[in-house]
Amino acid sequence: MLRPPFSQESIPLNNWDVIVVGAGAAGLMTCLELPANLKVLLLNRNTSKISSSRWAQGGIASVVRQDDSFDLHANDTLKAGDGLCDVQAVEMLVKEAPGCVSRLQNLGMIFDQSSDQLATTLEAAHSRRRVLHVKDRTGRALVEVLEDHIENKKNILHCRGVRVTELLIDNEECKGVQVLDGANLYWIQSRAVVLATGGGGPFIY
Ligand SMILES: Cc1cc2nc3c(=O)[nH]c(=O)nc-3n(C[C@H](O)[C@H](O)[C@H](O)COP(=O)(O)OP(=O)(O)OC[C@H]3O[C@@H](n4cnc5c(N)ncnc54)[C@H](O)[C@@H]3O)c2cc1C
Repeated sequence: MLRPPFSQESIPLNNWDVIVVGAGAAGLMTCLELPANLKVLLLNRNTSKISSSRWAQGGIASVVRQDDSFDLHANDTLKAGDGLCDVQAVEMLVKEAPGCVSRLQNLGMIFDQSSDQLATTLEAAHSRRRVLHVKDRTGRALVEVLEDHIENKKNILHCRGVRVTELLIDNEECKGVQVLDGANLYWIQSRAVVLATGGGGPFIY
């Protein structure tokens, strides 16, 4: 369910199982992967649909071709990362990418095809063709598929225009968040909080 920005209806202050902060690809997918019996509050500081995820153009890297391998993909990524990558994270991302692509297809994402196969481009530091895309609007296509699913889920309340300003920490556990909702500042409690607020690059939406 979507609660539009500047809504007069207040957000319930407690009884949430999970609060997810951020409605880019990470936050939206987190909401979808949580069990449907949990009450989920998705908070998004933007009043519009904008996010870095929506801006992503080129595509999603995944091993899908016979001439490619997880080792090649991992090595290309580590080389491009120039010592900054967490090796275990890279290995996990590379190995899980094909499964994630299938999951997105099952959710309704239609990647570009070439001769009955997924179309792939060769980009940046990749030594093989492994970038899957939806024209040059891959992020937008991804986010729209995920948003459609979220807005049909009765257990998820998606609130736009609500900024998280502090975490409620009790005995080293995060038990909620403080929000700025229009001109109102208040606390919302939850059994768990997931931060999916994106990176710290120049595009901070
Ligand atoms: C122009 C551009 C092109 C790109 N192209 C590609 C590409 O081709 N391939 C690729 O893999 N990656 C690409 N990227 C990078 C990719 O978009 C990001 O790595 C990815 O989208 C991050 O997703 P995310 O869900 O973690 O964060 P985001 O999409 O940034 O989402 C963060 C969310 O958190 C919310 N938020 C932040 N702070 C708060 C707060 N205090 N309270 C409430 N909500 C908050 C924001 O409003 C937003 O909804 C590109 C990025 C840009 C900007």
